[in-house]
Order: sequence, then structure tokens, then C-alpha cells
Amino acid sequence: MSDSDELKILNPATEEVVATVPAATAEDVDAAVVRAVRAQSGWAALAPADRARLLRRFADTVDAHLEELARLEVREAGHTLGNARWEAGNARDLLEYAAGGIERLLGKQIPVPGGWNVTFQEPLGVVGVIAPWNFPLPIAAWGAFPALAAGNAVVLKPAETTPLTALRLAELALAAGLPEHLLQVLPGHGHIAGRALVDHPDVAKIVFTGSTRTGREIMERCARLVKPVTLELGGKSPNIVFADADLKSALDPFSFLDNAGQDCCARTRILVHQAVLDEARDFLADALAAVVVGDPADEKTQMGPLISAAQRERVRSYVPDGAPALRGSAPDGPGFWYPPTVLVGERHDSPAAREEIFGPVAVLLPFTDERDAIRLANDTPYGLSGSVWTRDLGRALRVCGGVRAGNLSVNSHSSVRYWTPFGGYKQSGLGRELGPDALTAFTETKNVFISTEGPAQ
Ligand code: NAD
Repeated sequence: MSDSDELKILNPATEEVVATVPAATAEDVDAAVVRAVRAQSGWAALAPADRARLLRRFADTVDAHLEELARLEVREAGHTLGNARWEAGNARDLLEYAAGGIERLLGKQIPVPGGWNVTFQEPLGVVGVIAPWNFPLPIAAWGAFPALAAGNAVVLKPAETTPLTALRLAELALAAGLPEHLLQVLPGHGHIAGRALVDHPDVAKIVFTGSTRTGREIMERCARLVKPVTLELGGKSPNIVFADADLKSALDPFSFLDNAGQDCCARTRILVHQAVLDEARDFLADALAAVVVGDPADEKTQMGPLISAAQRERVRSYVPDGAPALRGSAPDGPGFWYPPTVLVGERHDSPAAREEIFGPVAVLLPFTDERDAIRLANDTPYGLSGSVWTRDLGRALRVCGGVRAGNLSVNSHSSVRYWTPFGGYKQSGLGRELGPDALTAFTETKNVFISTEGPAQ
């Protein structure tokens, strides 16, 4: 664990230094929270329509800088340009969506005798958002924007390796007219700045996305202050392919290669009915060989590098020399490259089949029938997402009912839409982000009873 006072940001495709950014200290976090408390009281006092207007202006400003944000994401995170453009657009769209929720953040009127009873959804105050490096821009946005819309201030700590898009977002917020210190971004080390945010008594909630190990520690620390926490953690998601499925779509290698596999929803356990196992293996061998891996800034590239040398070592450790595998290719030379890989000789309980690798590596496993498919799908501590491929609708629904995961898709590999809820079962997390209830997750419910009893006549 390093505690250097600067963060050196590398381009993972070239290993060149893109920027050097000061690392926030615990004192910097304290000062930011003091400023945030002040900014939040002014923000919450604004009329809902005025807050909504400012967030829509912020969305327009993001829209005007979409290409710049996308290219920054390519440079600091190695995302392909196409993906990075989608990610910047996702941040803009979520701002529009959250702005639309401000005037709809409704309480309830509940019938009671002797008076009226009403509830209010009040902002929490200051929200701390701790983001990972795998999707630096959208994940920062998913935590921060609904929190702002619900009337909170946000202090955001991006990952050590990828703070640049979040820093730019905070500049764009100011340019759009959002109050100063309402959205502050503090790059820094997890065990220093991240921990200071978690432990701060004036930070009312923590939204964390990252590894299950760190999420567990954050939850323990929040428990001491009885501080609410949303956790979006790891995954080891199944792709369940029945024999009647459209195999070409079901076995799309980008279901686990998108973002070089550094995606918590990656379908890295390819569970295939034994009747089509050989066909699946042949199809995947050709599909991996055809994947274009290279410079992420080139429009034709389909997969870029891993984020760091350390991440590449971690991925390599799951693929011993000589392990039976299907492989694509990857560039040599500078950059943290790893080829698309499917392990074909794993047992269902091996580390590669159970643990999150977070790289372009999947395992291919056969199943015998529907019950066996559900059993294998659930045989992991995670429960984030998964896909079910079959033309039999009844079977698809039965399997969706049996798989314990927060985000399933039938005959599709999609997982995330900003207007539907996202989050995990089991050790994949706690709470939900996005969707129609996103703003409510950043409020307290206050109940007020108003007596209608008058003085005795
Ligand atoms: P990580 O847990 O190491 O770090 C995530 C963030 O937490 C970083 O900003 C880091 O600085 C901070 N942090 C680290 N230690 C901390 C501490 N003690 N206190 C407070 N903050 C601390 O994870 P990572 O390696 O950056 O990200 C990869 C992991 O994230 C993978 O396991 C992946 O599955 C998971 N992930 C999950 C989702 C999801 O939505 N479920 C999304 C993206 C990534």
C-alpha cells in the first residue's frame, strides 16, 4: 500500500504518464466536508424547479464536452473509443433523468384519525461516493447525480489510477452554474482519503463501488457510526445457454470481453448444455481469434488493454501455462495487454471458475438439465447479473426465478440502463442504484402528524 502524495496517471495502452495529480490527505477530506455542509444547505433551500434547471444545464454542458470526456476516458482507462463515447453519453442522460425526478420526489398522505399524516423525503446532507477504476466516469455519475438531485452535496473519491474524468466533471458542474463545493472531487489513496470520508461524522451516507474485500471493510466502519451504505461489489456472472438457443448471439464473446473483462457484470461462467458443448467450443475458438485487440483510440479496435501491470499479473495467475484454453491475440510491447481467453478444462469449483478474475478470461462448463444449470449458476458467493438463452419462454422464466442475482437478461447480454435498478444479491452488494427509486436512496423519510382537534366548543 503506497501513501505517496501524488498520483501518477498512466495511459494503460502505452505506459506513458498522462498526468500527475495531488493525493488528498485526511485533512483535505475534512476541509472538503466542511465546505460541502455549507453548500448543501443552500442547495436544498432552492426551489425544486431551480435545482432541476441547473442539473439540466449541467447535462447540456456534459453533452457539449462529450468527445473530450470520452477521449480522456480512453487515455486514463484504456477503454475503446466507442465504449467511452457511450459512457459519457450515459452520464449526460442520467443527469437529465435525475433532474426529472426532483419535482417528483413525493411524500405520502396517510389516513389517520384526529388529523392529517404526511411524509417528506428529506436530503441526507453530504454523501460520500467512492468509485473504482473500471468505469470511472459512469460509476461516479451513478452515485453522485441522483444524490445531487435529491438535494445533497457530494464528495467523490475516484480510484487512484483514474481520477481525470471525475475531476473534469466537477469543473463542468461549476461551468454549468452549480453552486461552488456542491460536487467536490478528491483524488487520493483508498486507505487515506477513502477511509477519512467513510469515518467522517458529517458524511451521512457512503456509496461504494469496488471489490468485495474493500466493501466489507467500509461496511464495518460505517456500522460504528450507524451510517447507511450502498455497496456495488464483485461478480462472477453465468451465461446459461440451452441447446435451443441462438448460439451465435448467446456466445457473443463481448459478453465477457467488453472493457477487457474488467466489468463486474461480465458473463465469465459460460454454462452450456452438454448437447451443444462441442459446437460452442468451435464457435468460441473462431470468435476469439477474430477479436481486434489494440490501440483503444482506433475506431476499429474492439478490446483495449488492462488497467495496470498489477491487474495483468492477477489475471495471469488464473491461467497456468499449458492450461487447456481457446485464445485470441494481443499486441506485444508497451501497454498492459492480455489476449481473450476461454478456459475449457476447469472444474466448476476451481478458483478460475469461482473467483472474480476481472480480465478477458472466461470458463466454459457443461450442464445436464435445467436444474443443474440453476445449481451451477448459484454456486458462487456472488449474485450480480447473468443471461439465460433459450427459445422456451417458460423455461427462461423458471431459470430467472431460480438464479439469485440482481440483474438478469433473457436472450440478451444487457445489464445496465440508467432508468432500471442495478445492484447485487449475496456478496455482490447491498442496495440498488439507478432506476425510478434512485433519488429516494439519498433521502430520509420524515413523518409529520398534524392534529385537527380544535379547542373544546
Ligand atoms: P477497490 O475495492 O480496491 O477500490 C475501489 C475504490 O475504493 C477505490 O477508489 C479505492 O481507492 C477505494 N478504497 C480502497 N480501499 C479503501 C478503504 N480502506 N476505505 C475506503 N476506500 C477505499 O476495487 P478496484 O480494484 O478499484 O475495482 C475493482 C473491483 O470493483 C472489482 O472487484 C469489481 O468487480 C468491482 N466492481 C464492482 C462494480 C459493481 O457495480 N458491482 C462495478 C465496478 C467494479
